[in-house]
Amino acid sequence: MSDLFGTNGVRGRINQELTVDVVLRLSRAIGTVLGPGAIAVSRDSREGGEMFLNAVISGLLSTGCSVVDIGPAPTPGLQFIVPRLGVDGGVMVTASHNPPEFSGIKVIGADGIEISRVKEEEIEAAYFNEEFTVAEWNQIKSVSTEDDSIRHYVDAIKSQVNADVIEKANLKVIVDGANSVGSLVTPLLLRELGCHVVSLNAQLDGNFPGRDPEPIPKNLSGLSHAVKATNADLGVAHDGDADRAAFVDENGTILWGDQSFAIVANRVLSKHDGATLVTPVSSGRLIEDIAKEAGAQIEWTRVGSIIVSHRLKDLGAELGGEENGGIFYPPHQPVRDGAMTAAQVIEIMATEGKSLSQLVDELPTYHSSKTKVPVPEEKKDSILGELLEMTEGMSRITLDGVKLQFEDGWILMRPSGTEPLWRCFAESKSLARAEELSARGVELIRTAIEQS
Ligand code: MG
Repeated sequence: MSDLFGTNGVRGRINQELTVDVVLRLSRAIGTVLGPGAIAVSRDSREGGEMFLNAVISGLLSTGCSVVDIGPAPTPGLQFIVPRLGVDGGVMVTASHNPPEFSGIKVIGADGIEISRVKEEEIEAAYFNEEFTVAEWNQIKSVSTEDDSIRHYVDAIKSQVNADVIEKANLKVIVDGANSVGSLVTPLLLRELGCHVVSLNAQLDGNFPGRDPEPIPKNLSGLSHAVKATNADLGVAHDGDADRAAFVDENGTILWGDQSFAIVANRVLSKHDGATLVTPVSSGRLIEDIAKEAGAQIEWTRVGSIIVSHRLKDLGAELGGEENGGIFYPPHQPVRDGAMTAAQVIEIMATEGKSLSQLVDELPTYHSSKTKVPVPEEKKDSILGELLEMTEGMSRITLDGVKLQFEDGWILMRPSGTEPLWRCFAESKSLARAEELSARGVELIRTAIEQS
């Protein structure tokens, strides 16, 4: 039995790997495992969204669940509303930041967090064994709609920030909604907070005519130009389902995800004595420095936002974050939330009266080096044992691959989830040292391949 779920739900190319048949069977399995109560559903702007959403609804109804359709919304918007509606879970039709030809399904538990691997396995078992609950003919329920979800979600975010301070700062913000559901929330939210908002790529269009939906520097040149051309104070860009936010400063410089994460972490963690920050082993020294400075402790996890969310909830920790700019703020909800992140960064600028570039300049600078090492498929799993033996006694974290920690940097060696290779990341204050560390990691992986 193969895995259906990847790091964040089920993904595939529309009408290729991901067909109506797959989505229907998957939804029958989801209803079987999460039901038989009510399930809330939503979708992003992707092509085939209505087709898949209707398959989701049919599958859920066939198992005796009732369905609440909240309309198109960001994934964190659905996640926020699920526990407030008191439903048993949620299903989101989205492929997040993947290219336009992809769609997918994210499954959300009654607590609003994407379900754990254990629950995913239950759904996979029902799917592959075709063990579905089939409702009696007179037990099939109906679909209702909930039109106020985005209103509730926006109000909740506003309640987490100082609206007066933001309004007085009179900031001009360009919001790049990636032609998807972030456009339904962030322009409205920031306008109501008193910002002067200009929207970019705001029409919902599954062809993503504005840009690729992944908010990484190479896709944000349009936003960068718009910020400079309009003398805006900053730019905010979302991914396809708006659980992430990326930022552009007033000079048009695109921030790396770990920089916005560090800016938020610095403020949130220093407000609490002995706060806990939850972050995957892929996060770097910048966030370690910030945590140390704030007197917070770091709880490392395996890579994956669902793992971070569940750990945050279990520990009652103050903040979570990922180096890709995903930020989890539990007083709002313990999941990545792009609109919440945008409001937090703007609140920090307003409170401190600093530009985004000034906030970035206050951060320590690190350099990184990334290398891929091809590994024969049959050795992809076994070399971990060799690497653990070879690095025994060194300062290391072994939650997910091997992360070696040195006084002046670190090396992370991890297998790729999808390809026959291992990835080696290294970071240090100088580029030369980062490259030296990276070369050392590559050497370790090559030796492990020979020895295994
Ligand atoms: Mg996403």
